[in-house]
Amino acid sequence: MTVNVAGATDVVVVGAGPVGLMLAGELRLGGADVVVLERLAAPTTESRASTLHARTMEILDQRGLLADLGTPPDEPMGHFGGLPMDLRLPGCPYPGQWKVPQTRTEELLGAWAARLGAEVRRGHRVTALEQHPDRAVVQAAGPGGDPVRITAAYVVGCDGEDSTVRRLAGVSFPGSDARRELIRADVDGIDIRGRRFERLPRGLAIAARRPDGVTRVMVHAFGRAPRAAEASFADLVDAWRHVTGEDLSAGTPLWVNAFGDVSRQAEHYRQGRVLLAGDAAHAQMPIGGQALNLGLQDAVNLGWKLAAVVGGRGPERLLDSYHEERHAVGRQVLSGIRAQARLLLGGPEVTGLREVFGELLPYEAVRSRLAGTISGLDIRYGGTPTDAGRPGGGPHPLTGRRLPPLLLRLRSGPAAYGAEGGDPGTDHSSVRTPDLLRGARGVLLVTADDEDRRRLLTRTAGPFGASVDVVTAAPPAGGPDDSPPDGADAVLIRPDGYVAWAGTSAAGLEAALTTWFTRDTRALSAASKRRPAERHPSPTTDPYTGSHIGRRENMGKLTGKTALVTGASRGMGRATAERLAREGALVAVHYATGADAAAEVVERIEKDGGRGFAVQAELGAPGGVHDLFLGLEAALKERTGATELNILVNNAGVMGGVAPEDTTPEQFDRIFAVNAKAPFFIIQRALAIMPDGGRIVNISSGLTRFANPDEIAYAMSKGAVEMLALHFAKLLGPRGITINSVAPGITRNSNPVFDVPEAVTAMAGLSTFNRVGEPEDIADVVAFLVSDDARWITGSFVDASGGTLLG
Ligand code: NAP
Repeated sequence: MTVNVAGATDVVVVGAGPVGLMLAGELRLGGADVVVLERLAAPTTESRASTLHARTMEILDQRGLLADLGTPPDEPMGHFGGLPMDLRLPGCPYPGQWKVPQTRTEELLGAWAARLGAEVRRGHRVTALEQHPDRAVVQAAGPGGDPVRITAAYVVGCDGEDSTVRRLAGVSFPGSDARRELIRADVDGIDIRGRRFERLPRGLAIAARRPDGVTRVMVHAFGRAPRAAEASFADLVDAWRHVTGEDLSAGTPLWVNAFGDVSRQAEHYRQGRVLLAGDAAHAQMPIGGQALNLGLQDAVNLGWKLAAVVGGRGPERLLDSYHEERHAVGRQVLSGIRAQARLLLGGPEVTGLREVFGELLPYEAVRSRLAGTISGLDIRYGGTPTDAGRPGGGPHPLTGRRLPPLLLRLRSGPAAYGAEGGDPGTDHSSVRTPDLLRGARGVLLVTADDEDRRRLLTRTAGPFGASVDVVTAAPPAGGPDDSPPDGADAVLIRPDGYVAWAGTSAAGLEAALTTWFTRDTRALSAASKRRPAERHPSPTTDPYTGSHIGRRENMGKLTGKTALVTGASRGMGRATAERLAREGALVAVHYATGADAAAEVVERIEKDGGRGFAVQAELGAPGGVHDLFLGLEAALKERTGATELNILVNNAGVMGGVAPEDTTPEQFDRIFAVNAKAPFFIIQRALAIMPDGGRIVNISSGLTRFANPDEIAYAMSKGAVEMLALHFAKLLGPRGITINSVAPGITRNSNPVFDVPEAVTAMAGLSTFNRVGEPEDIADVVAFLVSDDARWITGSFVDASGGTLLG
């Protein structure tokens, strides 16, 4: 049998129901390539889930899809376990619920996903799933039965309650099976009166006639357990007669099925490269259409995160946040559904309970609590950063909640969309907040009155421009439903419409930005494209062809980090600066006298698609360290909106080259001032702006282990440098900051001695590899030590002398 290698993509979505299609569209909006595999050869004609709740309407509105469904009717009344209740909540313009046939919702989402470029392959039944460290491979039986293999970075099971993906991934699905059964059908050609949760002595009957004359019928005979076989029309006719005494046998069923009060939830919504959404993640009785709404909201929570991760614009932990956020919501909804199932399907034994519940429901606190869960409007995602600048601390009340739809007056001027010039503070047009989210990008909504604040907050978001748009607007005015976010100068909105942060301080904003997004990697990706040989194996590379899958952006290990390399105008400092920039860091190229050389280094970094800037300071001279940090902090602030420094490489140094008997006190002091004293005070200053998890590397020398009487003072200074690692490591461990020494052997630099072949041969003989070191040999060691891979190394001495110290 031949296996058709059907190619590779970023994400395979299994299941083209509403959840799979919504997810496919969201992934495409985020730039991810997606293939949807669907078992059915054609879309279903059965309209099972037909209720849209308020939050789902808001989500569809955000993507510009709501209007295509028409105008939501004024249908505020829903129910809790069959007890009528008003589902409306303040701050939401939509009615309690909207009956839309699932076929219509599916058609709308399918057309949208296709317009955005999602590829839906029907008639594909998934048969196998492999997970590898760098990819997942899905095998399916195609329309002709031939096996098809697709490689992807991630696979998402949206394949319903009996999810094949969940089973193949081995995700456990704890909970309880159905104990009670409802048979339901759409029946044509019958004329029975409408019944809304009518409880009769022998069971529950529901009937609703649609405008097209078809009647949706549901029936439960009290105490009836689920059947093993598929429900038939005859079963429905029997049960209806048993409960109501009426005969439906003259009708024509369009479809019939049965469902029960199953309640199960996947233990993990993510397992490695496999994720679950919709009914594949949670099986529940479809009371009041909550299953569909829960699933669509899963898709909108996951879509932007997964797209950001595969596109290199989001940290991988976003995928874990999908589980954390949606599993908690699912748990709450499922518990409400279990309570409703009890109230609805229980026989006479629940009559007392129903009466008490019926008395409690009119209380506003009870009603709004239940309406909040059913509508999806009360969701508050946790784990978002606090705003340090907020009086009393703690997150702003909006944090983690959906941004209610607001009408805003846009402001032109310097901070509007980050543009320069204009007439500060002039309002010129209005926008609805849902429209800002049309493209599923993050939005920083800046509403500060003060222009300097607006500028600062706007600048802070600058490095996140690949993921976040900045919109400046006047604070919303108006009634209680569109009240401004009190006490906030800006609101950071995630692409799914939830508030990541609201507050006043640039530091708080920066923390939120780095939690949910990564700094712009466009420059880095350009660099990676030019250097195919240096690319790291990526889950987004097709392992069969080696070609890039879709739009590739390879993340460097240091993307989003800032670094200072002292003495980076030449030698190994230069090589290190260039290497760290290639890994994605924004690099400060420090120099003392070589302004042109430093400018050349920056130019080369930028040519390679990286980011860097030069900063001058004479180390060892009074005020040198101070000057260095003045220049560094100003430049960092300009480029990132903050002064945070993640990586420090103390590389600048001077040799002695003077015999001990000729060394003057001035020469000795100079060597110590540049090589030992300056690094100490640079570390002291750097620690004030270095966040937890930072990295420090000090360049020592093999001469701390290898005798050379001409360099005693120099070797002493390097011996002192090594003490920095030992003692600071202990001090900085609790902050997760590592500090290590790297000791090069003889390494090529601009010293003319490297132009003398005999001298080079002699020096090469000191290394066991019989060559002199190249600056890149050292840069690679430093790049490792400052990466996350070296998180477990601190206080250590790394011999990078090419084996010179072996003796
Ligand atoms: P290099 O080519 O000699 O360059 C030295 C760098 O340090 C230059 O960027 C220079 O800046 C800067 N610098 C020197 N004195 C300074 C001062 N007073 N203030 C500020 N910056 C100053 O360096 P390298 O040979 O690559 O050595 C780098 C480090 O490795 C040094 O710490 C050195 O001791 C150590 N090391 C070198 C070797 C080797 O064989 N090369 C072996 C072991 C250890 P300007 O040019 O702009 O003035």
